[in-house]
Amino acid sequence: MKYYSTNKNAPEASLQEAVVKGLAPDKGLYMPERINKLPEEFFRNMGNMSFPEIAYQVAEAFFGEDIEEDILKEIVYDTLNFDTPLVPVHDAIYSLELFHGPTLAFKDVGARFMARLLGYFIKKEGQSEVNVLVATSGDTGSAVANGFLGVEGIHVYVLYPKGLVSEIQEKQFTTLGQNITALEIDGTFDDCQRLVKSAFMDEELNRKLNLTSANSINVARFLPQAFYYFYAYAQLMKAGKAQEVVICVPSGNFGNITAGLFGKYMGLPVKRFIAANNKNDVFMEYLRTGEYHPRASVSTIANAMDVGDPSNFARILDLYHHDHKAITKDISGCTYSDEEICKTMNAVYKQYGYLLDPHGACGYAGLRDFLKENETGVFLETAHPAKFLDTVENCVGEKVSVPEKLLSFMKGEKQSIPLSKEFYSFKNFLLK
Ligand SMILES: *Cc1c(COP(=O)(O)O)cnc(C)c1O
Repeated sequence: MKYYSTNKNAPEASLQEAVVKGLAPDKGLYMPERINKLPEEFFRNMGNMSFPEIAYQVAEAFFGEDIEEDILKEIVYDTLNFDTPLVPVHDAIYSLELFHGPTLAFKDVGARFMARLLGYFIKKEGQSEVNVLVATSGDTGSAVANGFLGVEGIHVYVLYPKGLVSEIQEKQFTTLGQNITALEIDGTFDDCQRLVKSAFMDEELNRKLNLTSANSINVARFLPQAFYYFYAYAQLMKAGKAQEVVICVPSGNFGNITAGLFGKYMGLPVKRFIAANNKNDVFMEYLRTGEYHPRASVSTIANAMDVGDPSNFARILDLYHHDHKAITKDISGCTYSDEEICKTMNAVYKQYGYLLDPHGACGYAGLRDFLKENETGVFLETAHPAKFLDTVENCVGEKVSVPEKLLSFMKGEKQSIPLSKEFYSFKNFLLK
């Protein structure tokens, strides 16, 4: 399968090139040249298949031409060593819990898949060690570091701003050791991102080291997110509720919802999608007006969605051939203030005993407010509430218990290397 750039000004790439490069040379995002429909028989049988079985069929449709069957199977099964159960909250509203992976957030799926795919390409080429650089404000670093942990032939450098990530987030990528090195930068998240970008542009570094990025726009991180939409539908089939299905996705960079839209193109019978936003709602404005005006992000309690210029917007436009009407037919939007998010968490906990995280709360609220009669709603619960302990305890007014998996990170010893925000110190560090 070939991959083209959304900017249409770069040569087509192979899967391997698209994965290793991440971004196309014209700064566009890679798109697969075809989205294969899955056979009807698959949809009929899905209700009786396991999550990895379903995921393999979806993966095969994208990657089957480029990766041998047994290897792709191994990558998929190894990625999904945890479940994504669909849990009823009340009436026709279900939570798709994507937080049962190693770092308790949905990014585990894409990060684990990408790590294994990249590891496979490196081995196949007999390439020398590849260095993955990733800047993080918290969640991406933990998913990428844990996803790549122990993968042969890859060393990961996580750059994070000193004192600006929560302790629990910091522990998730500074305590791992092995092929993961955490760099504590005396600066902001923007400084970290600038250092990574400068490294990719530095001629000497690129000549001496194999550098690559594990950014969320990478096709190997983005496409596997389609897996759990199919599995959610299969679980609804089992429950006899798979009619008029509406999926609401808490969205920041819009990678997660775009993977769901790909699923619909592959034949998954989802009636429509809702993109739930916090106060960063440029996409909603686009739906309303047909005009897209990126803005600087504002900070909210659902901070993984604090994005003012969603990178995957380009993919949505491309998928729908820039047809605003077609986009608004499949997707509607909603937006919530911090106060509304907080109230939602409180009300759902008090009334139904279900604990939401601030991101999932936006997803739930979108269904509560916009689900029509006869529709069944699924929202994506993108992270475990205990990852946002202070906010969640504050909103529900009770202590929240922290899962063993998170606690065990807390027991680890922080190992990180302090660096200044000057590029020469980062460069010297990489070279020695
Ligand atoms: C990254 C993230 C999001 C946003 O996902 P996108 O794919 O960027 O839209 C939502 N919730 C949580 C918890 C996240 O970590």
